[in-house]
Parts: sequence; structure tokens; C-alpha cells
Amino acid sequence: MRTLTGVISDTGGIIRAKTVPARRIEAFARSGMGASLTWPVFCVDNGIAMTPELGVVGDLRLTADLERAVVLDRGFGWAPADVRDQDGELSPYCWRSVTRRQVDRLASLGIEALVGNELEFGLLDEAGRPLGERDGWPCYGAGVYSELSEFAADLCERLDAVDLPVEQIHAEYGLGQFEISLPPREPVRAADDVLLARAVIGRTCRDHALRVTFSPVPFPGGSGNGAHMHVSLTRDGVPLLAGGPLAEELTDDGASAIAGIVRHLPHAIAVLAGTVVSGERLQPGHWSGAFACWGVENREAAVRLLLANNGNPHGANVEVKCVDSGANTYLATGLVLGFAALGIEGRLELPEAVTVDPTELSSEQAGAAALVPLPNDAAGRIELFEKSEAARAVLGPELHAAVAAVRRYESSLYEGEDAHALTRFAWSS
Ligand code: GLU
Ligand code: MG
Repeated sequence: MRTLTGVISDTGGIIRAKTVPARRIEAFARSGMGASLTWPVFCVDNGIAMTPELGVVGDLRLTADLERAVVLDRGFGWAPADVRDQDGELSPYCWRSVTRRQVDRLASLGIEALVGNELEFGLLDEAGRPLGERDGWPCYGAGVYSELSEFAADLCERLDAVDLPVEQIHAEYGLGQFEISLPPREPVRAADDVLLARAVIGRTCRDHALRVTFSPVPFPGGSGNGAHMHVSLTRDGVPLLAGGPLAEELTDDGASAIAGIVRHLPHAIAVLAGTVVSGERLQPGHWSGAFACWGVENREAAVRLLLANNGNPHGANVEVKCVDSGANTYLATGLVLGFAALGIEGRLELPEAVTVDPTELSSEQAGAAALVPLPNDAAGRIELFEKSEAARAVLGPELHAAVAAVRRYESSLYEGEDAHALTRFAWSS
């Protein structure tokens, strides 16, 4: 390894990093590299949403997790980083620990979760024009591979080489849009994988004279980039989302887990789909899951249950569709797992499934499904988030306050501006 780059995803989902030469790798893991207390409140324009607690005095240490270190290419090392205080203890601002704590919480209930993420992204030429702008882009089209088969093969091989075996790749709906599916894994690792995949995609693009955007909506009026999150739950290896006595073969705990996610989801949108452009994606008809409700194979429900069947070799799982590619994956994963745990702990009853497009439901049917439109404006998302004890408990009061500060700052900054152009490459790596 020539250098090691330790990365974090900040409160607003931007990937930031420190790099050391080979001889400093041990120090990066042990003592960490310094980061000012403003890192948790960096915003998408690099502004700082300072709070009384987070200002110019104090220091955090980013410690590289060498167990997850890989060599990307040409000797450049990569590892996810934790955030610690000067004494080496995990900091309340450690984004990665948010997922870790919810894994432990589920473990105390005897439950193991696996998470697999889908990543959508847009490809652009070097001048910044989306591929397909000139000649069109057939969604799911095989035609795009006449020009992009080298890129697709290279990407799959490079992901394999860093032990991230991609499940599939396809040309998505939007101009120049692609999607890859990452394999189901232990949740912290699955979140690390999202950052790793973004690094590999970015580097592969550069070698093919392409640029990549992970913005939730890179161009006004264009398709959104989702980051759909699949979650499965087992106890002693026995699935909770299949083989049970309830409707759709759910177990009691499986049904309560879904109920917990559906109930609390509106309060977490400031994290899951909370960027300055996210609201444009989280609309009915965009297959982004704009309604808090659940349904089997329902692509307009924020929580889509996939049954255990031949077409689904990983077994039953829930797909949380409202998450976008601007979200901090560690916070998003922690919130989804935490809400599932809350549902199980409280033995929540599952509302009715939604079996049609949610916009077609009568108000009575919407009530039975406990259906709530997810907030897609900044003020609405922030208000629900700030009053959520569930979100505060999962994130911890420090990161909960940091998210609110960042989102408030960003929403005032971009009023009336061309938010798409300003943030197009913010989430690239
Ligand atoms: N691009 C859509 C989104 O923003 C998802 C399309 C699909 O894969 O179902 O979430
Ligand atoms: Mg897709």
C-alpha cells in the first residue's frame, strides 16, 4: 500500500477523508488523524452549521478500521473510519457507531439483520453532459453496452477485487443512469460497502473518461438516484419475514418490525431523503416510495416486502425505498434497524398492506394502512425529525442536533438557487 485514505460519510452524506503515507498507517488506526469539531456540521456547500456545542475549540480523531482496509488500485489503500475522542473512546459523533449500536440492540433481542443496498447513479461525459442526452437512453436498454460494456465489466471486476461482489448491473430509467446491487451483509459492513462502491465507481469512471453523480436529483425534472435498502431479519438462523402464521407468512416479530419502520419513517426523512434536492424525487409516481405504508412487491410503498420464493434467493426481505443516494448510509441504516427494533420491543401491530398504487386508496383504506405521505419539503422534514424521540434515541442527542442544524442551514442557503448544479457532484467520491 502506498497510501491509506480513511473515509467517513458526514452528517449530510458527503464522503470526506484523510490520507496517510504507508509508514503512518498504524498511527491512523491507533491514534487517528485529527478532525475539527466542525466535521459533524459541515454542509453540502462546505459551510459550517455551528452550534453552541460544535465550534472552533476541540478535536476529534478519525481512526481507520484496518480490518476493512482494501487496496483500490495502483497501491492506493482505502478504509472506513470511526470517530473517537482524544482518549480513544468512540465519539457520540461517530456516524458508523449509529449502525453498530442498533446491530447490538437487535442482538440483545436475539435477532440478526442483514442489509443489502442498491446504488443508482448517473454517468456524464467529461463536459458534464448526461450520457444519452444526444442519442437517447433506452431504460434497461441493452444498446448502451455497445459503448459501455468495457466500463460495466471493469466496474464489476474492480468491485470483485475489493471483495465487494456486485450482484447485478443495469441501465436505469434516467438519462445515463445505472444501478448496481450490493450483496446482503452484516449492517456496518453493508454501509461501509456503499462508501467503498462509490470510491470504486468514481475511479472506474475516471479511467473511462466519464464522470459520476450520486445526487438524489442531478438535473431539474430528471430521474432520481435512489439507494433502496433491503433488510432481512433472523433469529437463530430462522427468518422473521417468512414462514410465520400471519398474513404473507410473517412472524409476529417480523410483522412488528415492519410496523415499526412504517410508523417512524416520516420522522427520519431529514436523514433518509433530506438533501436540498431530495424532495423532487420523493413524489408519487417516481417509484421512490413517497408514502409511509407497506405492501408486497408494491413499488410505490416506502416499505416493499419481497417474499421468499424462487425469484428471491436471499429470502424474504423488506426494501426501504425512500432512501436516496445523498443519505449518510450509517445513519440511515441505524434508523431503519432501530425502528424495526422499536416495533418488535413494543409488539406493534401491522397495519393493512397496500395492494394498489397508494394514490388510489380511499381515505378509509388509507387509514387502515396507516398511510402517511412522506414529507418532501425541508420545513416539513425538519419539523418531524426534530420532535422524534425515536430518531433522537437512535442517533444520540448529539448527532440528532447536528442533523437538524445541517438541514436547517442547507434549506436556507439554497432558496431560489440552482441547487441541482451546485450539488451535482457533492456525493461523488
Ligand atoms: N430511481 C427510482 C428512485 O429514485 C427507483 C427506480 C426503481 O429502481 O424502482 O428511487
Ligand atoms: Mg432502480
